[in-house]
Amino acid sequence: MSSQRLESSAAPGLTCDLLVIGSGAGGLATAVTAAQLGLKVVVVEKEPQFGGTTAWSGGWMWVPRNPLARAAGIDEPLDEALAYLRHELGAQFDEARARTYLTQAPRMVEFFRRRTALQFIDGNAIPDFHGRSPHAGTGGRSVCAAPFDGRRLGARLQDLKPPLPETTLWGMGIASGRELRHFLDATSSPASFLYVARRVLAHARDRLLHGRGRRLVNGNALVAALAASALEAGVQILTAHPARRLLDKDGRVAGAEVISPQGPLTIEAARGVVLACGGFPHDAARKARLLPHAGPDGLGHHSAASPGNTGDGLRLGEAAGGRMATGLVQAAALAPVSLVPRADGSTGHFPHLIERAKPGLIAVRADGRRFVNEADSYHDFMQGLLAATPPGEPVQAWLVCDRDFFRRFGLGAAKPWPMPTRAWRQSGYLRQGRTLAELAAACGIDAAGLAATVARYNAMAAAGRDLDFGKGETPYNRIQGEARPGQPNACMAPLQRGPFHAVRVVAGSLGTFAGLRVDTQARVLDAQGQPVPGLYAAGNDMASLMGGHYPSGGITLGPAMTFGFIAGHHAAGVPLEPPAPTPAPAPTAQPQPRTEEAIACTTTNSPR
Ligand SMILES: Cc1cc2nc3c(=O)[nH]c(=O)nc-3n(C[C@H](O)[C@H](O)[C@H](O)COP(=O)(O)OP(=O)(O)OC[C@H]3O[C@@H](n4cnc5c(N)ncnc54)[C@H](O)[C@@H]3O)c2cc1C
Repeated sequence: MSSQRLESSAAPGLTCDLLVIGSGAGGLATAVTAAQLGLKVVVVEKEPQFGGTTAWSGGWMWVPRNPLARAAGIDEPLDEALAYLRHELGAQFDEARARTYLTQAPRMVEFFRRRTALQFIDGNAIPDFHGRSPHAGTGGRSVCAAPFDGRRLGARLQDLKPPLPETTLWGMGIASGRELRHFLDATSSPASFLYVARRVLAHARDRLLHGRGRRLVNGNALVAALAASALEAGVQILTAHPARRLLDKDGRVAGAEVISPQGPLTIEAARGVVLACGGFPHDAARKARLLPHAGPDGLGHHSAASPGNTGDGLRLGEAAGGRMATGLVQAAALAPVSLVPRADGSTGHFPHLIERAKPGLIAVRADGRRFVNEADSYHDFMQGLLAATPPGEPVQAWLVCDRDFFRRFGLGAAKPWPMPTRAWRQSGYLRQGRTLAELAAACGIDAAGLAATVARYNAMAAAGRDLDFGKGETPYNRIQGEARPGQPNACMAPLQRGPFHAVRVVAGSLGTFAGLRVDTQARVLDAQGQPVPGLYAAGNDMASLMGGHYPSGGITLGPAMTFGFIAGHHAAGVPLEPPAPTPAPAPTAQPQPRTEEAIACTTTNSPR
């Protein structure tokens, strides 16, 4: 990829004010904002459908001081969330960007809920990941896209990327919170059974008549609402149009050459270009350089991100003079992933976001020993696995559970009772043993090690205290678990009744953190720290504000939306009110009323 002079391109052309490359949250948030502010915007997407990884995501955004929290009485000062970031990010803390983020993110939510089709539900009961850290939030720092009626997209609904199949039930996305709880309780509660029956029937009818479900939730709702808002504001969204190179006019990035189904196409963009190609989760060469566990060929890292995210934006940005940020502590948003054999011969990457914290599951390595607090975030789980894996050994572990756990929660892509398990067992995805020894043999785990681990774990579970890893001790652990009457620890239950089940997990991610250096206006910076004229980055093409740390759920989509909102304003020449100077210390307001939805969102856990 390289930039070339605009005049020299012979391809037929289109013109616009702003060209956005990539149609996930970063790209679409920029496009909608810019179009709302009067610009003519074109979005090009490489894949046949728009949405990227965002369309597969939980749709959660970390937005402290968001309007929904404030309306519920949770009104903390900006410096409270800033202090949490300062503590969590350490040497990677960039006060100017963090302050900009915390100032503009609530305005972003306000802008979208007032002016677009995107609406939000609150995360008023969702805590930050690291509850032992000073200034960690116990609720009110996140929002999620509200369910969305796909009919508003009209015929373009067919161009919306469907949810990741393995995370759905027959292609139907399940919203985190109350809805997920209904699905888990469907065999024990008549009300939940009725709810699920209605949802499944409506979905079946939609599929029959329209080829896909139309009640959209989570990240699929986020993309659909953004895309509908973009189309309604006159944005052109061109799918199957990969950008190949940036075009330069008088020292400014002023468009791109894209490959349309009919051949090369030049798109001129007077106000510039936004790189929003979703980072490098499927760029083997960059993974080999930036993720040591990926190995020299980069293939030891199995990202659950969208396959089109092959690092194009980063290469385009570098070719135009932009520079990658250095010094991140971790180059990707890590997550344990299981490799799912699909009927068509391909392999799905299932990210284990939900079941690890539920009571009755442990994670062990081949020696049969636990190595981490299973209820911690997916990123922390993976850091624990990487630290526990001796050099040269494969980065892998087994999630192990008993019959009762499996019937209630399922394991990975294998759904709970009464869904059938035979195909999962036959493909080797799900391992099973009537006894722990049988299961150990089926997985290649040391049987004596596993027996000793389970005996110790069961005793600790009965007492409600994980003496080895402190499972269940933080608010985040507990909300991801499942409180039961008479059970002392919401994340622990003994594993006692066979058959026992296991699924192998390997190193993966939800996306990447390392990206192009940008300033507080989302402008890409060159080697001298100066903006490359006409070039912005949004989403995971922009180096993570968190410097490779993962302090809370929603820390990729929140910044993707917010810096897209900022870039849209900058490109349109509409200034945003800057962050206020550091205010005098104020007391922390702590009333935390919880809406029914907010409580439901977290008791059954959310893929954030
Ligand atoms: C299962 C799952 C759940 C998640 N849940 C959450 C969550 O709740 N909250 C959160 O913060 N994060 C979550 N994440 C992570 C989050 O989804 C991603 O970090 C985020 O979607 C990245 O947004 P983006 O706009 O940078 O990229 P994407 O949404 O991936 O969009 C990038 C787009 O660019 C396109 N593209 C690439 N190259 C080109 C090119 N040359 N020309 C044109 N187009 C191109 C790609 O095809 C893709 O469609 C989750 C991830 C997964 C996998």
